[in-house]
Amino acid sequence: MKAAVVIDMGGTSLKFGHLLNEKPAGMFQSLATEALRRARDPIVFLAEAVKTYTEQQRLEPDTLIIGVPFTPDREMTTALSSPNIRNLEAAPIKQGLEAKLGLRVVLERDINLLLLGEWYAGAARGAGDVLGMFVGTGVGGCFLQQGVPFRGASGGAIELGHIPIRAEGRVCVCGNVDCLEAYACGHTLVALAERYDTEVAQIFEADHPLLKQESEAFVRDLAYAMATAINLFQPDLALVGGGIPAMRSFPKALFKNIFYDHLRKPVPETTVAFSWAELGSEAALWGAVALQKKG
Ligand SMILES: [Zn+2]
Repeated sequence: MKAAVVIDMGGTSLKFGHLLNEKPAGMFQSLATEALRRARDPIVFLAEAVKTYTEQQRLEPDTLIIGVPFTPDREMTTALSSPNIRNLEAAPIKQGLEAKLGLRVVLERDINLLLLGEWYAGAARGAGDVLGMFVGTGVGGCFLQQGVPFRGASGGAIELGHIPIRAEGRVCVCGNVDCLEAYACGHTLVALAERYDTEVAQIFEADHPLLKQESEAFVRDLAYAMATAINLFQPDLALVGGGIPAMRSFPKALFKNIFYDHLRKPVPETTVAFSWAELGSEAALWGAVALQKKG
C-alpha cells in the first residue's frame, strides 16, 4: 500500500501522521518540539523520529511531507529563518532527510499545508482565492489562488505575524520590534497569564479590568492584521484557524466585529466570505493529500 508520512511542526508539538493510498490514515504520535530544539543535530533527530514512527505503524513510505514553521529558501529545501525552532536554520532539511531516510522529502510552510488542507477538504473547500491566518505559538498567513500558494519573490510571502502593529517597542522573536507576534500570539498569551497569575484558558473570561483590556487589545491586533490582509488581497474567503481561535473562550464575535469594521466598503466588505478553520491538526494531512495530487 502506498504510504506517506506527514509531520505537522508546531511551536509546541510535532505531530506525526500518515497517508495510505493518498488518503489520511490519522495522526498517531506527538513529540514535544522542545526535544527538537535541544537536539544537537535536528536532521538526525527528525530522521530517527520518522524511523521510529514508520516501525511502530509498520509502514514502508516513499514520501515524507513536512509542514515547517519557516521562511523557506526559493527551492523549499532549507530554512532562511525559523525563529520558533532556531536549530533548523542552516540545516540541510530536505537533502539531509532524503539522504538519511531514502525517501522523497517535500517541505512546505506549515501554514500553507494547513490552509491547503482546509481548501481541499475543510472550511475553504471550493473557494477560489483564500487568505488564511493561523494563530498558535506564532501567527502565520497564507494566500491560495485556486489551491496554489502565493510565494512572493523569496518563497516566504504573507508573513502576517511580522507586520508592524503598535509602537510600544516590544521585541519580536524575529528580532524586529512591534511585529504582530510581539503583541498577539501564543507566546504573549502565556506571558499575559503569568503576569495576571491566571490560566491561559481563563484569559478571555477574566473579570480583572486590566486583563480584560489587554485581552481585548490582543483580539483587536489580530483582527486589524486580518482586515489589513483582506483589504490588500480581496480574496473570496477569509479563513481564521489555529489553536488560539479554537479555544472555547476565544471571543469570536468580538474578533469578527472589529474585522468587519475595518474592511474597506463596499468591497471587500460585501464580497469576502468568512470562515473559521474546521479540520484542526488533521488539516495538515489533507494539505499533504492536496500536495500529492498536484505531484
Ligand atoms: Zn517579527
